Amino acid sequence: MAIAEDPKTTQLTERPGGEGLRGARGPAELARDARTASSAQGRLGLSDSERRLLSDLFAIVSEHAADSAVEIDRARVQDAFVFAFEHHGAQRRKSGEDFIVHPIGVARICASMRLDTETLCAALLHDTVEDTSASLEEVRERFGEEIAALVDGVTKLTGITFQSRDEAQANNYRKMMVAMATDVRVILIKLADRLHNMRTIDAMPKQKQMEKARETIEIYAPLAHRLGIHAIKWELEDLAFATLHPRKYQEIKGLVAQQREERERYVSEAGEYLRSELAEVGIEAEIAGRAKHFYSIYSKMTNKGREFNEIYDLTAMRVIVDSVKDCYGTVGVIHSLWKPLPGRFKDFIAMPKVNMYQSLHTTVIGPEGRPLEIQIRTHEMHEMAEFGVAAHWVYKHQAGEPPVGQGPAEDAKLKWLRSMLDWQKELSDPREFMDTLRTDLFEEEVYVFTPKGEVKSLAAGATPLDFAYEVHTEIGHRCVGARVNGKIVPLHYELRSGDIVEILTAKRERGPSRDWLAMVKTTRARNKIKQWFKAESRQDTEHTGRELLQEHLRKQGLPAQKITGSALLADVIREVGYR
Ligand code: MN
Repeated sequence: MAIAEDPKTTQLTERPGGEGLRGARGPAELARDARTASSAQGRLGLSDSERRLLSDLFAIVSEHAADSAVEIDRARVQDAFVFAFEHHGAQRRKSGEDFIVHPIGVARICASMRLDTETLCAALLHDTVEDTSASLEEVRERFGEEIAALVDGVTKLTGITFQSRDEAQANNYRKMMVAMATDVRVILIKLADRLHNMRTIDAMPKQKQMEKARETIEIYAPLAHRLGIHAIKWELEDLAFATLHPRKYQEIKGLVAQQREERERYVSEAGEYLRSELAEVGIEAEIAGRAKHFYSIYSKMTNKGREFNEIYDLTAMRVIVDSVKDCYGTVGVIHSLWKPLPGRFKDFIAMPKVNMYQSLHTTVIGPEGRPLEIQIRTHEMHEMAEFGVAAHWVYKHQAGEPPVGQGPAEDAKLKWLRSMLDWQKELSDPREFMDTLRTDLFEEEVYVFTPKGEVKSLAAGATPLDFAYEVHTEIGHRCVGARVNGKIVPLHYELRSGDIVEILTAKRERGPSRDWLAMVKTTRARNKIKQWFKAESRQDTEHTGRELLQEHLRKQGLPAQKITGSALLADVIREVGYR
């Protein structure tokens, strides 16, 4: 058994020109890569290095061919490469490299996320409309509407920067959300674009580097997290961390390296033992050590004021099995071998996170009395954990399992997009939108049940009021009390995972009370309450206005009833410039 630290994650951590992505490829694929690439050379006289770029891209495509649902149309991808190559022509990057290296790099990242033909083409073309003489029309004519729409989406996001929290910046965020709600692939290309730029950030002037790194940590990494694409999130964070705090980065990297050998030995021995025990009960498992990422170690040290060793003592292991049943079987075996630490078992399979992450987590006192953190998941869950929305797109479902698009993960995705659109429409102040997005991204979640057993996930600290508004706006507005696990609780009660929540409602709408704003935790509930008061105060103002008008008319001795009810008044109002 090869115990490598996080082999899957490292798929995205290759550097340009690195050989990290070579998988086991058959001679047939190699021959095909060479054929497709050399036919391009024959036709257009691509140089050796360009041919190599293209076959590097196809190498990644080949590697994932077996687990992608849709086959990549290589001829179209090659056509997009040629188009990008011709249009970028002699352009160079700041590093002095040919510009084409960048779109190819972005396409490679998209290919390692197993994205489809259209996305790969759009990745290759993503800077042509912005930076070259090519027009969107040309792209549309040659590559069709779908690819053109993706390129257009990415072009519109290009040039958007997030450096301050003022309104313009917040509006940029909204633009991004709209793009995402329209077609998530636009954002996936944008993330790949940012990742490639971060990998090659050294060529930038220092000031620009800092800006980009800050923006990456504040916007792009959380976005990747929200979309469940951890492979990209971690690399973005580590690259930005290295730029922002080079000394700290080197220090932590050095400390991690020091203990690497010892850690690998430990995980290897524990893993070997666990694997043989699992085999006894007929569970086949892939077991690997799990490297903690530098930035996550750093933020734990700074946020919790811990020493490096307090965090890093914890060794982490991942067990990948074939079925959900085997996941639970495995945790049973683990808990019978090693004593679990109380309160550390978490079931994200029965209750997936909002970003679709699924796994079982437990921490046990492992061999030699050392704490061992273990994650257990199926292959498909692992793909989801690494590639999130992207994996969801293309993951080929196993025979006998429900097809992709019908699971709870799909609901989570739709739910998230829906709530994005809700905010879009509801928040009049973009700054508020940005703030709430940030908080919602970082918050921990609690999982509670409706009396019918339906699971609702809410921000940690949520109250029955949040729950009521989550179920339905009307239920919120009519809420008069709540029962949790059969007992009446106050409305400010803090919900805990596993609670069964029942909302008591008034027959007629009573409307929220102002102090509810201080009790709710979720964006949704807060918005709904604010909206209610806004609508109400509009009605009030209108009412007061009418009364004042009538009073004045009466004072002037005019027939108040007649005038306010007539079309004449509407004319007067228009005349003085009101609607
Ligand atoms: Mn770009």
